Amino acid sequence: MLTKVIEQAKIDHFSKWFVRADKVVIVSHVSPDGDAIGSSLGLYHFLESQEKTVHVIVPNAFPDFLKWMPGSKDILLYDRYKDFADKLIAEADVICCLDFNTLKRIDAMEDAVAASPARKILIDHHLYPDDFCRITMSYPVISSTSELVFRLICRMGYFGDITKEGAECIYTGMMTDTGGFTYNSNNREIYFIIGELLSKGIDKDDIYRKVYNTYSESRLRLMGYVLSNMRVYSDCNAALITLTKEEQGKFDYVKGDSEGFVNIPLSIKNVCFSCFLREDTEKPIIKISLRSVGKFPCNELAAEFFNGGGHLNASGGEFFGTMEEAKAVFEQALAKYKPLLTANE
Ligand code: 5GP
Ligand code: MN
Repeated sequence: MLTKVIEQAKIDHFSKWFVRADKVVIVSHVSPDGDAIGSSLGLYHFLESQEKTVHVIVPNAFPDFLKWMPGSKDILLYDRYKDFADKLIAEADVICCLDFNTLKRIDAMEDAVAASPARKILIDHHLYPDDFCRITMSYPVISSTSELVFRLICRMGYFGDITKEGAECIYTGMMTDTGGFTYNSNNREIYFIIGELLSKGIDKDDIYRKVYNTYSESRLRLMGYVLSNMRVYSDCNAALITLTKEEQGKFDYVKGDSEGFVNIPLSIKNVCFSCFLREDTEKPIIKISLRSVGKFPCNELAAEFFNGGGHLNASGGEFFGTMEEAKAVFEQALAKYKPLLTANE
């Protein structure tokens, strides 16, 4: 049995909307990850099974390793089909906002979603959600939005209507937001849910291979290159990896190729904080990815030094400037946070 994480009043409120709604739009954050796509498609399959008119819209493209997911071909990319997407958003009865906590995270879609008269619900697990939805289901203790979607569907009384396809999407989001159940994954209810998803016929081992073992040769070579230039700050238990645009060019870089790189330095003994600086391919910025193990709050560092945020152990931000300047800011941040980084020695 599962704990009732979502308050009953919110389940009842949404159930009322659900009965009346026909046109539903699901939106998720820019540069969608496995949980953004997994939770969106998990909810999409459920709503389709209930004969709703459903569209998933995300600001921009998502990585190839998620394209096998059932329903992914129906996802609308806002940067390519803005006019059609704007119409769907404006005419929706209900907009479900998944896996983000502030409208800023949906980029160019922000204005259209804010202006839509649709009823809006937030289903998310990031800290400190903004107040932009009539129903806010925000539970940072839950490790993925996909898990929340599963919990919501069950609490509404529709476990029986979850299809194998829907279960595959939900499982994918739960798996990717916990690094294959290696972090934020000690809640035993996660494994109860996995059992329920397996009962729908999903092949979890196959899903793992489809997500994690389908990389290109050039991606693996890029990983080797990036790691060969890694800098380890032993005195701070930290590591830094970087990737410039010029280097991306040498390795036929395609978006998503550096996905997961930031986690690798954490496999070094004693390294509990990892930073990845990457020159963005689309915008003139340096994209920052931060990861930590244990109590080190990389979201605080992201907010203070890189105009960002996120979770305790996984956060990010953006930097306007050169790679050298970004590195210098990172080193300033290390100096400031050194006491915390070395607290457990
Ligand atoms: P990633 O390193 O995978 O890009 O991002 C990890 C997490 O950091 C995301 O799930 C998100 O919560 C947070 N994050 C990433 N980039 C940003 C950003 O620019 N601003 C904020 N506020 N959070 C970010
Ligand atoms: Mn998530």
